[in-house]
Amino acid sequence: MSNPCPCGSQQPADACCDPILSGNQEALTALQLMRSRYVAFTRADGDYLMRSHSLKTRPVREKKNMEQWARSVSWIGLTIVGTQAGQAGDQTGYVEFKASYLEDGKLQQIHEKSLFRRENGHWVYVSGVHFS
Ligand SMILES: [Zn+2]
Repeated sequence: MSNPCPCGSQQPADACCDPILSGNQEALTALQLMRSRYVAFTRADGDYLMRSHSLKTRPVREKKNMEQWARSVSWIGLTIVGTQAGQAGDQTGYVEFKASYLEDGKLQQIHEKSLFRRENGHWVYVSGVHFS
């Protein structure tokens, strides 16, 4: 595979998250949106992170910091722990995941259960609960 998607789906990026990040395709499920947001973090794509974030909780003022931080770490991979709802016919959904990265040479992990919701028909990230 020439360009595997960073989200770990074992699919080529251009058949997985790339068309979602570029806006050519809609994330059909909460899980697809979650995967695309992980890829956006690996590329420090703050515009996409804002666009895919609920208007009500969108951290616009943190965009530059998010980009800087995302660029400063080395992303290793994404593991999906589980999902609840978030399918094509649902209005809300949860995705639990672990995202690994190296920061200052140390292996770090975000373990989060995220809430997604449809806003104007599109899946968006609302909030997350972190596990330690
Ligand atoms: Zn992907």
